[in-house]
Order: sequence, then C-alpha cells, then structure tokens
Amino acid sequence: MSAPVNPGTGPSNFIRDIVIEDLKTNKFGGRVHTRFPPEPNGYLHIGHAKSICLNFGLAAEFSGKCNLRFDDTNPEKEEQEYVDSIIDTVHWLGFDWEGRLFYASDYFDQLYDWAVQLIKAGKAYVCDLSAEEVRRYRGTLTEPGIESPFRNRSVEENLDMFERMRAGEFPDGARTLRSKIDMASPNLNMRDPVMYRILHAEHHRTGDKWCIYPMYDFTHGQSDSVERITHSICTLEFEDHRPLYDWYCDNLGIYHPQQIEFDRLNLTYTLLSKRKLLKLVQDQYVSGWDDPRMPTLSGIRRRGYTPEAIRNFCGSLGVSKTNGIVELGMLEHYVREDLNKHAQRVMAVLRPLRVVIDNYPEGQVEHMEAVNNPEDESMGTRKVPFSRVLYIEQDDFREDPPKQYYRLSPGREVRLRYAYFITCTGVVKDEKGEIVEVHCTYDPATRGGNAPDGRKVKSTIHWVSAEHAVGAEVRLYDNLFSTPNPNEEVEGKDFTANLNPNSLEVLTRAKLEPCLAAAEPFNRFQFERLGYFCMDPDSAPGQPVFNRTVALRDTWAKIEKRL
Ligand code: ATP
Ligand code: MG
Repeated sequence: MSAPVNPGTGPSNFIRDIVIEDLKTNKFGGRVHTRFPPEPNGYLHIGHAKSICLNFGLAAEFSGKCNLRFDDTNPEKEEQEYVDSIIDTVHWLGFDWEGRLFYASDYFDQLYDWAVQLIKAGKAYVCDLSAEEVRRYRGTLTEPGIESPFRNRSVEENLDMFERMRAGEFPDGARTLRSKIDMASPNLNMRDPVMYRILHAEHHRTGDKWCIYPMYDFTHGQSDSVERITHSICTLEFEDHRPLYDWYCDNLGIYHPQQIEFDRLNLTYTLLSKRKLLKLVQDQYVSGWDDPRMPTLSGIRRRGYTPEAIRNFCGSLGVSKTNGIVELGMLEHYVREDLNKHAQRVMAVLRPLRVVIDNYPEGQVEHMEAVNNPEDESMGTRKVPFSRVLYIEQDDFREDPPKQYYRLSPGREVRLRYAYFITCTGVVKDEKGEIVEVHCTYDPATRGGNAPDGRKVKSTIHWVSAEHAVGAEVRLYDNLFSTPNPNEEVEGKDFTANLNPNSLEVLTRAKLEPCLAAAEPFNRFQFERLGYFCMDPDSAPGQPVFNRTVALRDTWAKIEKRL
C-alpha cells in the first residue's frame, strides 16, 4: 500500500507555493527532493506524521523524491529499537523512500573533512573552555558575547588539537571545535557555535570508531547537501538556526538546499515531546511506547487508527509560520470518518445484562441476517444467532426510566436489532437488590424488526445470544491528560500531575457476536451503537482483547447532560 500520488492536487500551503515557484524558475533544475529526518531517540508521534505527510506528500505530488534520514549524532540517547520502530511506522503510514534510507552517521568522515577544511580556512578553532564557560561567554539577547581566549590559535595548532580530539587524547567535555563567526551577532546561534564535542560513547552504528561527535547544526545542512535535497522542511524552532545552516553551506562552498520552517502540530490533551513521552514509558505511567493512550503512531495504530485517517487529518492541517493548537476532536473526526466507510458492523455487549424471553421456545436458534456495512453494500451480510437467553447492555435497561429514556423498562416494548420486538415483563434481583435478569416476551410477528400492524417502537437496542457469545476483555480509553494543555505545570509539580487517573477502564466480561471469534489483532470493527474497536495484540486464542478506538457520538449523553 502506498499513499496516493496526485500531481497538482495536494493541499495548498505556503511551502507548496514555494515549491511551485521554484519549479517555475527552475531553481533546482526542476527537481523536488525532500527528506524526513527523525532523531532515533524515541518513537514517532502524531506531530511527526504532519512532517512525514508534508515531506513525502510534496515529493509524491511533484514526481520528486523523499529520503528517510536518521539524524543520529547523539549516541547517548539513540538506539536501534527506535530506528526499527521509525522505519516500520513510516511504512505503515503508507510512504516509501524507495531505498533511500540514510544516516547522518554515514557522513561522519565527510563531516570531519569539512571541519578540517574550515580550520584550514581560519574559520574554525579548538576551544578549551568548558561547556559552562562557553555558555557564560556567549552573552545574552541584549549583550554581545565575549571572544574565547582560544579563538586566535594558529591553523597548525588547531589542526593538531582537533586530530588529538579525534584520537581520544582528551576526556569528555575538555575541548570543543567551534566555528569562528561573530561573538557580537544578534543571533546567538552565530556566536561561534560548537561544531564538535568530545563524547566517549558507543554509537549504535559506528560503534567506538568516534569519540567526537558533530553537533546538529554542523550535520543537518551538510547531510541535506550530500543528498542533494532541494527543500529542507523543518519546524519553526529552527528558524533562528537558518543563518547558520546557510553559513556552513556557503563557507564550505557546497551545494546549498533551502531550509523552510513551518509550525509544529500541537493537540489539546496531548503531549508531543519525546522526552516527556519517554518519561511516561520509563516511569510506567503507560504500558509502553505503543500503549493505545500514547500519541505515538505505534500507540495510535494499536488503538485502531488507520493510516488513511492520519493522512487525511494531516492533509487538513494548516501549514503556517505560527504555532497553534488543534482540537483532539479533529483527529477523532477523521478516524470516525474513515472507519465509518470501512469497518464491519458487529454487535457486542460491554456490560452485559441477562435477558430471558419467556415465550421463546427453549433450545431454538434462529439465524438473523445482519448488514455488514450500510455504507458499503459490497461488504454483504452475515447471520447472527438468536436464542431464548440474550445479553443486552446494562445501560439499555432502567427499572425507573427518566423522561426521554426510550429504551427497555418494565412494560415498555423495544426492537432488538435485526430480530424481534420484545416487551419487558419483570426483573429478578439478587439479595443486594441488584437486577440480575430481565424477563421479556417477544412478538413472533415482528421478525426482522417490523410489526405487521404498523405499531412503532421508539428504540432499537443491540444484543448477543448468551449461548453463542464470545467472552472478551474490552479496554476503554479516555484522554491521557485531563487538562487541555498538559504542558502547563501545576506549581511544584511536573507534567505528570496532569495525567488523567481515569484514562483506562478495563471491562473483563464483555460478550461479543460469535463472528468475532475469527478476528485477528489489528482488525477493526464498529460495535453497533458503541464505537469503533480494534483487536489488541494482547489477545490470546479464545481470549480476545479489544481497544476502543473512538466512541460514536453519544446522543444520549448529550440529552442526559441537558436534563
Ligand atoms: P520532539 O520534540 O518530539 O522530541 P523533535 O523535533 O526533537 O521532536 P525529531 O526526531 O528531530 O524530533 O523530528 C523529526 C522531524 O519531525 C523534524 O523535522 C521535526 O521538525 C518534525 N517534527 C517533530 N515534532 C513535530 C510536530 N509536533 N509537528 C510537526 N513536525 C514535527
Ligand atoms: Mg530533534
């Protein structure tokens, strides 16, 4: 499966306008070549999806290319596990880099040579200041920085020192290689930024070959350049780094891609920071990176979201120069829209209440015809067994019905979906006074759901035959955070204080229609009247587990609020 290629029909935005203009003026020889450059220090989240869709989407629309490149310059935080999950996730989203999978670490030799080139040109120097001193010398937004006392080392001394840095002569942090730009620049990034630091750490790809590692700014633009990227699209926080991106390309005299910045995706009730998501995993607030409550793409996938829904959501987002915040409900809208079209309808009872139809022959089973998807006739029909003892949803019965409650209650007649009209004749309670069983009669003339005498019922409820039901665990999810902006920290506490204590509810006694016995992990369904559900990989043979992806819009909850 791959994302649609529709030349000329991608969502309009200012970056696309720049690409179109550059094609017109032949700026890059008619090429469009983008890249998605994740750092393998965590799992991808829904914010990354925006960047992925933008980069791969532009390439697809303009018959260009998009590379997948790991920005792996920080060995202390990066791992192969993250590389693997990122590769898997970008594929799952429906994008293909056609074999152009690269690593910034592939360019470590080249970057080293370029550093030497800048030293020889008198544009870089080895500095013995500590990290703390470098920070202090840097100045502030209102005060210029102070030049390092090591700034005017000779080229020979710099070459020798840098070589010895590489050879491992110095401990971590003892020295850095810095570019010689302008300590008085109003842009702090231009005040002799660090190019290389000493770090005796094992790299997930280069092992112990290196004990000096290039900084992001000295890596990113040059990696783009090596790969002949045309438009280097990144998020707004890199806007202030663009002069440095340009400075390195220009002073090295290498091919110069154009960096363009756009706004990060932020979502209400959601955190999109790998650092914070890692904390949730490490401190076991969630079951892992792919916990269905996580905003990671692996979590969202396990929750039941489709790649189509995520792509449609991303396509609907604006691309702009100011950061904003998008309603989580919008993401939910797109998954409902997609699943409505494609998910098979089935009946499932989450909180079962036993119903006995006293006048239905004992031992009799009928197979009722049910529609698999009213939105898609080609999905056909199936047979659902009906018998004397059923389960219905506890919510669908009230002994004392409030006003406007039209579902089952004593004396009331309702329709059982695809089956008969039933009328409640009484209840059985346990010693604690709780209802354990509801008794009904059915009208054999209403088979299929209509009365020949034309009488109407106000409600249709779903059911499962007790004898045929498949028992299941169902996991209901609510927002992981209870505040719209979980980054806003309560005084004296960190963001975990904003976690929603009720984000997971596990129901262990759910009863499913028998056809669900054949379901497999990641299969998606609409449980009629309840929502969309996806089978979880925790399922075992005969013990299915389902995740609620998203509820249907709940009209009764709205009425109840108003009452
Ligand atoms: P985080 O802050 O979550 O750790 P990051 O920016 O450090 O994210 P990277 O792995 O460097 O993560 O991101 C890869 C690409 O995805 C970058 O181009 C980055 O700009 C983009 N990206 C990251 N987060 C978002 C977001 N919320 N919205 C849009 N693009 C994003
Ligand atoms: Mg980053």
